Amino acid sequence: MTRPLFWHELKLGPRITLDFGDIKIVTPDNVIFECSRCGNCCRAISADVKEADIIRLSKKLKRPPSEIATKRPDGKLVLWHEKEYYISPQTLTQSVSRCIFLDGEKNLCTIYEDRPAVCMTFPFHLDSNGVASFIFEKWPDYSNYCPGFYYGTPNKDRYEDYADGLRRLQSITPKYLSQ
Ligand code: SF4
Ligand code: SF4
Repeated sequence: MTRPLFWHELKLGPRITLDFGDIKIVTPDNVIFECSRCGNCCRAISADVKEADIIRLSKKLKRPPSEIATKRPDGKLVLWHEKEYYISPQTLTQSVSRCIFLDGEKNLCTIYEDRPAVCMTFPFHLDSNGVASFIFEKWPDYSNYCPGFYYGTPNKDRYEDYADGLRRLQSITPKYLSQ
């Protein structure tokens, strides 16, 4: 595999569409993605959390949603857990620079099965038409933290899991997708 580059340094080929029926992934024809499990996205990148995520997590933590959820002044949902805000690094306490659900030593998500849908689909962004593309196309700076993309030939097999995650995101957050 070719060494990872920052997104803005890639010579992107024409976009192709990987068709999963209700979900379509649009990607440059010369870029593939494979998560290196570095955990950077859980340390450095903010993500919106949806109500359906909170309900699922509430079951996991055996606490009512009202105890673990609050809203930011702009109306977006964030999670509240053990008196720390969850998911957006800038909302964490000064001494913590990661999502509080990340086990910093093992570099693993401690709520992996119940993690927010947006965590399942990263680094893809899904629009209201069911079309997903790399978030780096819209927010190239995020690529500075993510070493998972490479020059290579995309194929559907590689993205089956992501298509499932995107489908789940689509089913639980239709309003979010139209924003
Ligand atoms: S919930 Fe899990 S996957 Fe999502 S940011 Fe936190 S540690 Fe990472
Ligand atoms: S930053 Fe990219 S490569 Fe690292 S864990 Fe997150 S998605 Fe995977």
